[in-house]
Amino acid sequence: MDIKVLQEMQKQFDLEYFPGFWQINDDKDFLNSLKHIAIALAGEVGEFSNIVKKIDRIAMNLGREIDSKYVEMLKDELIDIFIYVLIGANLLGIDLDKEYLKRLEYNKKRFSRFKDG
Ligand SMILES: [Mg+2]
Repeated sequence: MDIKVLQEMQKQFDLEYFPGFWQINDDKDFLNSLKHIAIALAGEVGEFSNIVKKIDRIAMNLGREIDSKYVEMLKDELIDIFIYVLIGANLLGIDLDKEYLKRLEYNKKRFSRFKDG
């Protein structure tokens, strides 16, 4: 599925479930929505990191294998992060397809010294 379609699906979801988020009439409203995204995104990254911390404590320190339940939890948190990326992209008017490809080309140059050969 095209990421542009996912962005639109998320926008429709947000308009249906959280219409206040998209009632942006001035810079103050825009900043409030931006703050909401920043806090929510940081929260989800925190949840992801906390699971990594648990894996580190349990698997590494106690010498146990990584429990697949933690991997499943990481997947859920990564999707939560992705959802907020979609919402943030919609808020900022970013075409993720286009901007990702531009950034990928930029990173190819930026990290060229790490490439073999
Ligand atoms: Mg979460």
